[in-house]
Amino acid sequence: MPTCPNCGADHETAALCRHEREGLVVVHCPDCNFLLGRYRDPSRP
Ligand SMILES: [Zn+2]
Repeated sequence: MPTCPNCGADHETAALCRHEREGLVVVHCPDCNFLLGRYRDPSRP
């Protein structure tokens, strides 16, 4: 379970805010919108 380094909240991975951008998945904290990570969309080649 990822902990937000900005506001300290714990969230289930499924509860995080996700956005797709140029083939990358961008994950934000749903409480403070802090950027938690960016990774390649596994559903794309
Ligand atoms: Zn946060």
